[in-house]
Amino acid sequence: MSENTKFSFKAETNKVLKIITHSLYQQSEVFLRELISNASDALNKARLKKLTSDTILDPDLELEIKISIDKTNKTLTISDSGIGMSKKELMENLGTIAKSGTENFLKALEEGENDSSELIGMFGVGFYSAFLVSDKVEVVTKGISTKSTGWKWSSDGEDSFSIETIDKNERGTEIILYIKDDESEYLEEFRIKQLIKQYSNYVAFPIKLIKEDEEEEDEILNEQKAIWRQSPDEVTEEEYDAFYRYLGQSGTPLAKIHVRVESPIQFSAILYIPSFKPQNFGMTNDKWGLTLYNRKVLINEYNKDLLPEWSRFIVGVVDGEDFQLNVSREVLQSTRATRTIEKYLTKQIIKKLEDIANETQKLIDEDEKPESFIDYMLLWREFGAFIKEGVASEAKHKERLIELLRFNSTDENGKDGSVSLEDYVKRMEVDQEKIYYLTGLEYDLLKNSPHLGYYEKNKLEVLLLGEPIDSFLMMHLTDYHEKEFFLIDQDEEESGEENEDGDSASNSDNEEEQETKLKEGPFAPLLNKMVDVLGGRVRDVKMSDRLVGSMARLVTPSGGINSNLQRAMKIMDAQGGNAGLGLPMMGKVLQLNPENEIIITLNNIIEKDTKDERIEPLILQIHDNARILEGDVPDFSDMLKRVETIMNYSLNQK
Ligand code: ADP
Repeated sequence: MSENTKFSFKAETNKVLKIITHSLYQQSEVFLRELISNASDALNKARLKKLTSDTILDPDLELEIKISIDKTNKTLTISDSGIGMSKKELMENLGTIAKSGTENFLKALEEGENDSSELIGMFGVGFYSAFLVSDKVEVVTKGISTKSTGWKWSSDGEDSFSIETIDKNERGTEIILYIKDDESEYLEEFRIKQLIKQYSNYVAFPIKLIKEDEEEEDEILNEQKAIWRQSPDEVTEEEYDAFYRYLGQSGTPLAKIHVRVESPIQFSAILYIPSFKPQNFGMTNDKWGLTLYNRKVLINEYNKDLLPEWSRFIVGVVDGEDFQLNVSREVLQSTRATRTIEKYLTKQIIKKLEDIANETQKLIDEDEKPESFIDYMLLWREFGAFIKEGVASEAKHKERLIELLRFNSTDENGKDGSVSLEDYVKRMEVDQEKIYYLTGLEYDLLKNSPHLGYYEKNKLEVLLLGEPIDSFLMMHLTDYHEKEFFLIDQDEEESGEENEDGDSASNSDNEEEQETKLKEGPFAPLLNKMVDVLGGRVRDVKMSDRLVGSMARLVTPSGGINSNLQRAMKIMDAQGGNAGLGLPMMGKVLQLNPENEIIITLNNIIEKDTKDERIEPLILQIHDNARILEGDVPDFSDMLKRVETIMNYSLNQK
């Protein structure tokens, strides 16, 4: 007795079908992920049934998914030995939209915020995606009860479907896709293998490729073991490393975080701190973020909602239990769920970084060097810039991130860049009030900066920050343990650094402070001439006792634009494709060293004859030298001509 009945799709089902086939065709490949995900769900249900009932059909049938390609008939078949469907279930599940992702997909699409291609990744559109690649779909199924009979559902994806009885030996479901002519890539083994690796590698049941040639052995295409769902002590180092490489990394990770969380949201995650920064991993690279699964089925890669941006060097996976359902209930909840996970993971990452930093410090303190340990300095050298970005952007955890910062400094121990703020403060003299630092674009220039002379002489440690991001960082750091940060390229007299309160550390320098009054005194000829020649290039020219050894330096007058801000603006200007770093630092005061031979001799020359032709090139060069030391880029063609002139003078002397 055969039944063959034709039914119409429910109105909204029809709508989804239309949307899927018409707007998502560019992502047709997702159909395989969706069908395998359904098969995996059905197998899970069968496994559960086996545990709770002893009257089931084919109890010894292996729980697996089989894929077979028939090139002659142009069909791709995905079959499972899962729970199967009764006629009623076929009608309900494949004829209407029940509580499936599709309903939410439709709602989100109507709300119109995202375009459909983005939504497909979020929701999964389920069974109907089969019509992306098929002219016709047949579902042959038999339920798990011993009384079950076989049914065949079929549809061309237009308006209707039909159901008839059919003989089927074993329980489970077979989805037969009659592949469209222009989608014939899905009849190629290599393409199917590639898609399984990409989307379904960690599905918990074996996915077998049934070879057309019966001589050949069937091939299992997927890894199956979702290690993140296991307890950490069940996972071997090799498995962790293999999964790390599966995520596109090479070598072994520096460290890992493996968590399984029950509430408020159930999810598991493995995060890795790589051992080195991938090449081309600039500030603008978009390929970062976690791989998001829902019950072992890939939702999307490079998910950026689950990590704060500063931690984009982290790679890993998050797998939600019912995550998709939580997410799709409404768009608002999605942000709530992802934000909860993001917060949790952020704390885990910071905790891990702290543990590594503290462990390294402990080993240094105890002067031990065990064979294997995670050296925080290795991590810092690769990813320090990201942590700095975190300090500047992560208001909530700023205090903790600050402790993770490491610097170069003028101290003996600071040459390897391992000075923490804690170290610095520990070394401070009791009466030192400020944390002295200098920013610039290159550590090598900073090491030789004229700003350091005074601090070296007075044995005051100065932090040297030689990366472009440091100027941004320091705009977000004002103090540490009540010690104020002080950028030492400031005009000490005008900034009032020395005289802020009577007993400040630098009080003893008062006698050194007697700067030659501007345009008076023994250096008046030079100062006046320099103001004349340099004009608007500098705010002012002064003599200063702050210079030790070096000839001149450019400082920020009080009220002038802080060098960090200036440099940050220049960097942003350069990133915007403009002159950027080529722009001169504005509004600086040029300080001269009254003990420097060149300065003294030049002053004498001017005193004798202000029109001497050697004066102007020398003055301009003194200024350019000071600019270079600040990381400024002078006009080289002007400068080269000038240097030639100066060379000529020096040769003609003889
Ligand atoms: P979703 O999987 O999001 O519920 P689908 O449209 O993919 O939406 O599937 C609808 C329903 O059809 C499923 O919930 C399930 O009950 C049933 N189904 C689909 N594929 C299978 C299968 N291979 N075996 C058993 N039932 C299935």
